[in-house]
Amino acid sequence: MDYIENLRREIAQREAELQDLRARLVKAEAEKSTAESDKDRSLNGEAWKWPLEEHEYERYSRQMIVPNFGLKGQLNIKNAKVLLVGAGGLGCPAAAYLAGAGVGTLGLVDGDAVEVSNLHRQVAHSTARVGMMKVDSAVAYLKGLNPTITYHAHATHLTPQNAEEIVSQYDVVLDCTDHPTSRYLISDICVLLSKPLISASAFQTSGQLIVLNNPPGRGPCYRCVFPKPPPPESVVGCGEGGIVGPVVGVMGVLQALEAIKLLVRGDHHHRLKSVDGTEEEEDGQKQVGMLLFSGMGDVPFRTVRMRGKRKGCFACAGDDSALTLAELKNSMDYVQFCGVNEPVKLLRPEERISVAEYERISREKRAHVLLDVREKEHFELCSIPGSVNVPISRFTARREGMGLDGLIPGGELLPPDAPIYVVCRVGNDSQIAAKKLKDWGVDRDGERFVGDVLGGLRAWKDGVDPSLPFI
Ligand SMILES: [Zn+2]
Repeated sequence: MDYIENLRREIAQREAELQDLRARLVKAEAEKSTAESDKDRSLNGEAWKWPLEEHEYERYSRQMIVPNFGLKGQLNIKNAKVLLVGAGGLGCPAAAYLAGAGVGTLGLVDGDAVEVSNLHRQVAHSTARVGMMKVDSAVAYLKGLNPTITYHAHATHLTPQNAEEIVSQYDVVLDCTDHPTSRYLISDICVLLSKPLISASAFQTSGQLIVLNNPPGRGPCYRCVFPKPPPPESVVGCGEGGIVGPVVGVMGVLQALEAIKLLVRGDHHHRLKSVDGTEEEEDGQKQVGMLLFSGMGDVPFRTVRMRGKRKGCFACAGDDSALTLAELKNSMDYVQFCGVNEPVKLLRPEERISVAEYERISREKRAHVLLDVREKEHFELCSIPGSVNVPISRFTARREGMGLDGLIPGGELLPPDAPIYVVCRVGNDSQIAAKKLKDWGVDRDGERFVGDVLGGLRAWKDGVDPSLPFI
């Protein structure tokens, strides 16, 4: 394994070096051609009199001739510094379009490394760069796309301690992360440092986009729109909940578009209406719209009008706000604010069996039922032989008084004392389901064993069947 790992690392490193060499070549060629043109002109007694470099006219001409964009727009973009927090499903496409458009300086913050399961959506990475830091992989890709701009790779997670130092170097911030903890931190630091924030998220087949703190101090912040974080148990990452590549791609591309619009306008006072429908209110406040995208819906795009700034907002109400840079750095605990997803503890130890115990029961062909409560799509990918799929959502939707047969296919044919074991991905939902079965009296006051398999499919893969392809 070490050998393969080393090879992979070496290829990634050579790839990055190669990309870097190519980028330097393109840059040197561009400089040489500019120098030659300069020389020709000086021989003819004339100086280069245009505001952009010659190669920039060639590279950006197609967008510069678009109405309301123009040379001024290009110069605004060239002088801008944009930070993307997250180099994943949103950050990759957003960064690609911003680099392509000629944003002068692009910064990327991400503390993760590239994994194979990222590649279906995180288009700046590649199979050869698996294991490399995402920011380095993304910069290697972006340099291939446009070597003439400046990139900064911040190979770290954004934290209350490093946020000021990193964010203060940029003019506009894109939140391309996937967890509430980082969303509140990014919004707070953008308020404190007066940076407009383009925030997007995507989950499964839908996404949302909102432009916050724009113009700084007048538009609402993330806390104005979402004063309370979602309950921690409702926060499911892309790993568990899944995501369709083009859905998150659309959201990332829209973030890039919003950033370009903001930069082209330069002064933030604009005639163009945002896709999010931003409009000026009479009192100088901004009302914003949240763009909702439903990738599989009949109406893919909708805009919901949101309220403006919230009175007494913890972060953005000016002198009334409790938040300061020192407070953010020294005493803000975003993980605690968003709540920690505690492991479920509903069953007693004697109500839980290990994967080894279940393996023995199954090998000895003892009468029993194994209920797999993962959602259907997970179950179809892989399951323990003989298990029956009843997704957890059916437990929560089931009405009181419905029989076991209504829940488990063929449940009425079960011997009344056959034990029921419940299994899920890691052993949380299985406890919820087993507890429900007990609450409904399925265990007939202890005559029938109802319990769960500790650690779920993940423990099964680790301890019994390593050939399971996916958990
Ligand atoms: Zn606010």
